[in-house]
Amino acid sequence: VDRPRPLVAGNWKMNGVKSSAKVLTEIHAGYTPGLKAKVELAVCPPATLVSLLSYASVGSRVAIGAQDCHAKESGAFTGDLSAEMLADAGATYVIVGHSERRQYHKERDVEVCAKAVAAHRAGLTAIVCVGETREERESGKTLSVVRKQLRGSIPVDSNSRNLVVAYEPVWAIGTGLTPTVADVAEVHALIRDELRRLVGKADAPKVRILYGGSVKPSNAAELMAVENVNGALVGGASLVAADFLAIAGAY
Ligand code: PEP
Repeated sequence: VDRPRPLVAGNWKMNGVKSSAKVLTEIHAGYTPGLKAKVELAVCPPATLVSLLSYASVGSRVAIGAQDCHAKESGAFTGDLSAEMLADAGATYVIVGHSERRQYHKERDVEVCAKAVAAHRAGLTAIVCVGETREERESGKTLSVVRKQLRGSIPVDSNSRNLVVAYEPVWAIGTGLTPTVADVAEVHALIRDELRRLVGKADAPKVRILYGGSVKPSNAAELMAVENVNGALVGGASLVAADFLAIAGAY
């Protein structure tokens, strides 16, 4: 089976102002032809910077993504942004169902799925996030929780071009803690298995499954070498160009 080209995506969360474009400039400078051949890069800044960074990325082939979108195309939804608007601003990816959205904005699988449908409608690739809490892991529910999230959050029109899955254990995000490689392998194998049901046997091997949660230059090689890990979703370390590039260089 030919493996998909890995994707290393940075999630800047609620960090970054116009002057942060210099981080992207540094990423561009380090995204050498050799690295480009091995790994795809994406940066997901706050929505205020999508347009600016998309222009700055023309020619560099670093993709720009958003961190959330509304399910509807337009309308009376004060403060919200549609997938179409984000695509118009230059995004090609959008993260949906990040644990911080699930936690602080009470997003459930059904809403996450509607957002992924919106992403596809607008021509964006949805990065659908799933992952268990510490409590769920400790009570042995990890696999059933992740399975349920996948079945509820991934739309039926998904395929390897418009879907990326990110496995992000909630307890590993921003904590410096990471699962063992065996635990990562177990969950990623389950995700691959579920993808066979969701997108079909032929396309499932081509869907990128990212690992996210405290990925750093020091642990990237170990995590990225795990079977069925096709890249990383990187939070904190993506704010420092040298760290983000070092993680990408782990391939
Ligand atoms: C994230 O929030 O997507 C993430 C992986 O964060 P961090 O790398 O900071 O743990």
